[in-house]
Amino acid sequence: MRSSDLAPATRRERARARAVASFTLVAAALALPRAALAYCRTSVCPETQSTAAVCNPQQATDCGIPLAWPSPCVSYSLQEDASHQVTLAEAEAIFEQAFATWTAADCGGGTNPRMEVTYLGPISCDAHEYNQRKGNANIITFRDDGWPYGSGGSTLALTTVTYNLKNGEIYDADMEINSFDVTLSMGDDDVTFDLLSIATHEAGHFLGLSHSAEVGATMYADYRPESTMLRDLDDDDRVGICSVYPPGEPVEACDPTPRHGFSDLCAEDQPAPKAGGGCAAAPSPGGGGGLLAAAAASLGALARARRGRAARPGRERAR
Ligand SMILES: [Zn+2]
Repeated sequence: MRSSDLAPATRRERARARAVASFTLVAAALALPRAALAYCRTSVCPETQSTAAVCNPQQATDCGIPLAWPSPCVSYSLQEDASHQVTLAEAEAIFEQAFATWTAADCGGGTNPRMEVTYLGPISCDAHEYNQRKGNANIITFRDDGWPYGSGGSTLALTTVTYNLKNGEIYDADMEINSFDVTLSMGDDDVTFDLLSIATHEAGHFLGLSHSAEVGATMYADYRPESTMLRDLDDDDRVGICSVYPPGEPVEACDPTPRHGFSDLCAEDQPAPKAGGGCAAAPSPGGGGGLLAAAAASLGALARARRGRAARPGRERAR
């Protein structure tokens, strides 16, 4: 059933029921030993080629190299169709604000994270993918016609980060919003599932943060329906983002072009790479075929961690 077939009240009740179930799971999961930890960074464990969270303070059980974009200039693109619930213009305004919340974080003494996030405009591609031999885009797309991850509607969004398994450099990040199951709202009135809260949380994943055990943090794993509290950063979030991208010299000559060049087309619609031309024939530094993996993090169903489930060789997905 398409979500547009449902009456608003019915959809809202269903969504709320799912959210309550999700909250129960989250509470149970986070009552375990990590409850005392604060912000965490998504990390790669080279020995096991798996992802984990490295938290502050670091524990003996933490492993791995924290992920980060290697350049302070990163871009994103919005899928041009946006959603039946959200116009492209509305989505553009909300995601601009979500990223700005992170890049304008107060790192102390009037400094900010050394990171610029640039919007490259709408694109046609709606696939979350990273292309080793073709152009790329870090896409944000709404899933109006179905949520492909079988979460029973408890997942509000999913961010997939592709990175170098050896050094943790992020190559690509794509964000999917579950507009099929979830009644999104914008603004301060009649809040259902606040898109700006969801966007701000997912932007944290996009930039390399994992879930925090701090209940008030934007990177806490759960969203409380009808709230807007994830719009603003908590101290824990600020310390986290400032640790990933410490303040430094002003970013000059910023080039936010995605890895292997920008393309507004999905790989299947791009022309085949020419042999010997451009980056098509150039091996990615440290990022050959077997070295890539993807970690995915989602807001809402995160208690249902499924770490270590290999989606395909060299690629891992964790929620
Ligand atoms: Zn999350």
